[in-house]
Amino acid sequence: MTETVVIAETVKGTVHPSTAELITAAQSLGSQPVVVVPCTDASAAEIAAGFVGSARVVAAKSSVFEHYDAAGWASAIDAVAPAGILVASATPQSKDLAARIAARREISVVQDVTQIEGGNLTSPIYSGKAMQTVALSGDAVVTIRPNVFEAAPTGGNSEVSIVDTTGNMATAVQEFMARASSRLDVAEANIIVSGGRGMGSPDNFVHLEKIADTLGAAVGASRAAVDTWDEIPHSMQVGQTGKTVNPNLYIAVGISGAIQHLAGMRSSKYIVAINKDADAPIFQHADYGIVATWEEALPVLESTLSSMMN
Ligand SMILES: Cc1cc2nc3c(=O)[nH]c(=O)nc-3n(C[C@H](O)[C@H](O)[C@H](O)COP(=O)(O)OP(=O)(O)OC[C@H]3O[C@@H](n4cnc5c(N)ncnc54)[C@H](O)[C@@H]3O)c2cc1C
Repeated sequence: MTETVVIAETVKGTVHPSTAELITAAQSLGSQPVVVVPCTDASAAEIAAGFVGSARVVAAKSSVFEHYDAAGWASAIDAVAPAGILVASATPQSKDLAARIAARREISVVQDVTQIEGGNLTSPIYSGKAMQTVALSGDAVVTIRPNVFEAAPTGGNSEVSIVDTTGNMATAVQEFMARASSRLDVAEANIIVSGGRGMGSPDNFVHLEKIADTLGAAVGASRAAVDTWDEIPHSMQVGQTGKTVNPNLYIAVGISGAIQHLAGMRSSKYIVAINKDADAPIFQHADYGIVATWEEALPVLESTLSSMMN
């Protein structure tokens, strides 16, 4: 079944109730949708998490979402939203955004849909003088006319993950530490800090070791790190041809998130990813993603942890 992705409608930084209608529309196009919330403050995503019927909610946190800018918004959402059928509201701003995202992904756009039946989308044309019905054959961006589809009920509790591109490292680190510690059971906390080829050199693993020492964690590695550097032993490799791990907290630093790596760690209870590339696949699986270089993020993480532990 095609994955569907709802782009939440936001007004002044808050998720608009019409987002619940998008969830209903998305469900009739495929599976339970992933809801992407463009925001500057991840707490905005909690409203979306309360709508029944989404598979999960991704708070796409970026300063770009402070004011509408079609190119900036399209690029930031494109980086975070999984492939599939994207569903947005047919408001003037979101129709503009839909067209931009469709152009970036080189997929079709169908605007102002008022009916969905068996994969066929109906929308008015010629100022409403006629209706057209189109069938989708692949990924597309679809905008839905407000007040046509029934709103998904509230009372849900979907899981929220955050991809943070704000560049405000101190806030990002504090936020993920707060979320992680509220979810982890300290009595059985087992933690792994893993490095990939993005660490640049085996010498840089010393930064991961410092954090691991503070947290009482183990240090892991991707296969690319193990294969590239003799100093990183195979015993540290996590993944399909390495170890399968199942910690409460897995911190992946400079790891792209290849399927073979995910095979060894995706069942971790809480996944944090630090990667400079917002398009890195690891962010699709992270509970908290920080888009930054490790050079920027790890010193802040180190100092935040030391002050928490002292
Ligand atoms: C049969 C088979 C089995 C495999 N088994 C495994 C396995 O068990 N485990 C495993 O891990 N892989 C395995 N692989 C390899 C896997 O396909 C990937 O090649 C590997 O996981 C990539 O490792 P990586 O993410 O560290 O490196 P890369 O793919 O090179 O990614 C490096 C990442 O670091 C980021 N980066 C670069 N610089 C910085 C910086 N300064 N700060 C932050 N981020 C930065 C980049 O954006 C990039 O996303 C296997 C492959 C095959 C074919």
